[in-house]
Amino acid sequence: MRLSAYFLPTLKETPAEAQIVSHRLMLRAGMVRQSSAGIYSWLPLGFRVLKNIERIVREEQDAAGCQEILMPTIQPADLWRESGRYDDYGPEMLRITDRHERDMLYGPTNEEQITDIFRHSVKSYRELPKLLYHIQWKFRDEVRPRFGVMRGREFLMKDSYSFDVDKPSAMRAYNKMFIAYLRTFKRMGLKVIPMRAESGPIGGDTSHEFLILADTGESEVACHRDFIDADLVASDIDYEGDLQHLVDGFTDKYAATDDERDPSKEKELGDALVIARGIEVGHIFYFGTKYSKSMGAVVAGPDGEDTALEMGSYGIGVSRLVGAVIEASHDDAGIIWPESVAPFKVGLLNLKTDDNGCVAACDGIYAKLRSAGVEVLYDDRPERAGVKFADMDLIGLPWQLVVGPRGLKSGTVEVKERKTGERPEMPLETALAQLTA
Ligand code: ATP
Ligand code: MG
Repeated sequence: MRLSAYFLPTLKETPAEAQIVSHRLMLRAGMVRQSSAGIYSWLPLGFRVLKNIERIVREEQDAAGCQEILMPTIQPADLWRESGRYDDYGPEMLRITDRHERDMLYGPTNEEQITDIFRHSVKSYRELPKLLYHIQWKFRDEVRPRFGVMRGREFLMKDSYSFDVDKPSAMRAYNKMFIAYLRTFKRMGLKVIPMRAESGPIGGDTSHEFLILADTGESEVACHRDFIDADLVASDIDYEGDLQHLVDGFTDKYAATDDERDPSKEKELGDALVIARGIEVGHIFYFGTKYSKSMGAVVAGPDGEDTALEMGSYGIGVSRLVGAVIEASHDDAGIIWPESVAPFKVGLLNLKTDDNGCVAACDGIYAKLRSAGVEVLYDDRPERAGVKFADMDLIGLPWQLVVGPRGLKSGTVEVKERKTGERPEMPLETALAQLTA
């Protein structure tokens, strides 16, 4: 993409309304624009990151055997009356009346809806287990929408739902999601800590939140220092194998969200206790038969008797993650995207657009990189070098390929790695080989 043609409305000034760094940088880098409180439009640069995050989430859900569907945003209130949550949910739910005076709502989550689909379609335990997910916009009329996309009112969530005939089978689904989550966040360059959590309005008895630690996190959490020092890796997973020992290994040490903290355990930990602030990027629940019983979702069990489905639900804050990745990876100059989610891999900077040699060289490099399948943002604008450097640092692409007349005389360019700030000069061919590898 040529920057001269790209819609990238960057801001010079720091927007006064943005209190945390990710919100400031997302506005300054022209990624999003607020429409009304907690509701955002995604502009091209931000949208590319959102899509990359969504893609990683999808790939890891698919790998874990979860099947993608798409449920609507608008749901009938009657389903929520059946589960009893229509009244329980309170003012966070956006309630809508259609022209026939029917009560509808903009879904804050989809347990009722998927349970309804399931009860009409699945009749026997032989059709179980099943794991389904969708990636869809949610609406929660948060009291205090803030921090940009981190606590929005409209936000994109991946939510999965598991259906099993008994608890041991439901726990296998829970464990699959647990491991899939570790893999998902790791691919985004995030260090997450799975913590024991309360299950809140969704209800149930086994629940973990996945948090990244950041000073700007909204909740206070506590964990064993080992979580900070160690890297939780879950590679080469056989999702059909027994994952319990793996999950146990990731959860045997103390880690708890604010409402699950245990003063006596924390005292025992002594120096190994870390108290920090965290951003919740994912949350998994096992809630048994809470919805299947109230909504009559039963299957014929092995003995022929009606058995209420054992269920769980598993959320990831896809749009929140865009902010969370920035909270975890930035410096004074701007964003530092991990390559896996970066909107483009390479920024190509032509330092002298009124020099025919520079233009020809840059056009050639641009064509080569693109034909090698590399995503490039080509700064071909007639701007000063200083402006170009500042904009590139702000939008945080992992690599900057800097082309100027002086280097070209000897056939060299500069390749700056955004993360380290290192900017070695090298022959053009070497640079191309490195960036297309
Ligand atoms: P929180 O405690 O932050 O309000 P929650 O526990 O109500 O979140 P869940 O129902 O667990 O949220 O939703 C699953 C995921 O969706 C969360 O882990 C979070 O990443 C994301 N999420 C929830 N609320 C919002 C929001 N208002 N804006 C952006 N993302 C959100
Ligand atoms: Mg939660």
